[in-house]
Amino acid sequence: MRNRQATQLIFELSQPGTGEEYIPAVNFTEDDIRSFLPAEELATELPPLPEVSEPVLIRHFINLSQQNMSVDTHCYPLGSCTMKYNPKRNDRLAQLPGFQNIHPYQPVETIQGLLKVLYSLQEMLAEIAGMDAVTLQPAAGAHGELTALLIAAAYFRHRGEHRNTVLIPDVAHGTNPASAAMAGFRTVEVKSNAHGLVDLDDLQSKLNHQTAVFMITNPNTLGLFETQIRRIAEMVHGVGGLVYMDGANMNAMMGIVRPGDCGADMMHFNPHKTFSGPHGGGGPGAGPVAVKKDLADFLPVPVIVEKAPGQFALDEDRPLSIGKVQSFYGNIGVLLRTYAYIRTQGAEGLHRVSQRAVLNANYLLSQLRNIIPVPHGSRCLHEFVASALKIKTSRGVSAMDIAKRLLDYGFHAPTVYFPLIVKEALMIEPTETESKATLDALVEALRLIMQEPPELVREAPHTTAISRPDEVQAARKPILKWTPSADGSNG
Ligand SMILES: *Cc1c(COP(=O)(O)O)cnc(C)c1O
Repeated sequence: MRNRQATQLIFELSQPGTGEEYIPAVNFTEDDIRSFLPAEELATELPPLPEVSEPVLIRHFINLSQQNMSVDTHCYPLGSCTMKYNPKRNDRLAQLPGFQNIHPYQPVETIQGLLKVLYSLQEMLAEIAGMDAVTLQPAAGAHGELTALLIAAAYFRHRGEHRNTVLIPDVAHGTNPASAAMAGFRTVEVKSNAHGLVDLDDLQSKLNHQTAVFMITNPNTLGLFETQIRRIAEMVHGVGGLVYMDGANMNAMMGIVRPGDCGADMMHFNPHKTFSGPHGGGGPGAGPVAVKKDLADFLPVPVIVEKAPGQFALDEDRPLSIGKVQSFYGNIGVLLRTYAYIRTQGAEGLHRVSQRAVLNANYLLSQLRNIIPVPHGSRCLHEFVASALKIKTSRGVSAMDIAKRLLDYGFHAPTVYFPLIVKEALMIEPTETESKATLDALVEALRLIMQEPPELVREAPHTTAISRPDEVQAARKPILKWTPSADGSNG
């Protein structure tokens, strides 16, 4: 990555009067500008807009856009997050005027096309899940988890059962226990065995009549398929509990295994992972939830239904529904891209995506394990977790240092220090969209990093706009607003 720094804000570049220096301006009067602004009572004063010439403006934003890595500029082997390349045609299709220029308060008769697309997306997701009904409303995977757990709570309440516990494996994504706690459940951790899979004895010892839900991610966050999933589901159902499948890793098994066929009662999808929705900068995403038919009555309203052939409606009349979890019908832009992705891949294409994601990960695993140890499994599904523990002990280079140094070689860093059961974890997921040449280059970069002087690696990255920010400070006390300092200088 070249070091093109945009160190000043556009306000700081402002020079009154330069706006039309090279390119003649369209002459706006103050009244014209006011007419673009919200009603008078909302905007009494014109905002202090910066004045810059067009070249200054364009260079400023292009330089800013180049300070970061993105999946459009670099390979992004970010485990757990499935950062695959986002086909641009999905963007174009989602931006068709019939989708882009509609308003959520339009009468349903005028948005039949959109409802038809959303309805068929529900049907396609139900098919991929092996389940009966789908809601598209949740705004992210974690929100899908929360929605499903609220559905489970409503289901047990309706049956007059008092179940307050959610069991979660120790390798689970942090959102699982957080969602369970938010939905009012107590969480109990289930241990992994030496192979990195759910320990069935430990699970058995924790199952009882208090168990509401067992949340399982399959393939799990070590990239391993929970081969005992059917047995696990029988055990959970045996005490009257429900099985929730965290579907964030569906990229490994689309068209190959259906969670519903393995005994899961509900699951969420992460369209911004599996179905290539762009998800830089924290969103927007979506988290559709699929459920088996016994749970369908509890889905959030409104439910999109087909009243008569080709005639779609929003059904609000669902007495057992948990209510609304999101405004309107969900994050439509992401859902439209999901629809476009699934339709353009087709059933065969989705199957191939998963096969190739698994092949890429296994190729990388086979090449990398001689460079950085991989403690669990000689084979993986879509991702694997390497451990820099030995390297840290022998050379004083940590997982974080390796991840940072990869930026200098033009690779986005893998996920680090997750899952927690692997020390000095580097969690790597190449996805299906990377070529063998790119994977070989990643292996070569890691091989070279291992031979570099430890001090060089510990101080990386050396070529990025910002080297090592204080991440805790940035997360806890972000400065999101620029304020000019009182003396008129740029603060
Ligand atoms: C990403 C992820 C989630 C959370 O999904 P978001 O869309 O980020 O809220 C949950 N579980 C697993 C395994 C994930 O990888």
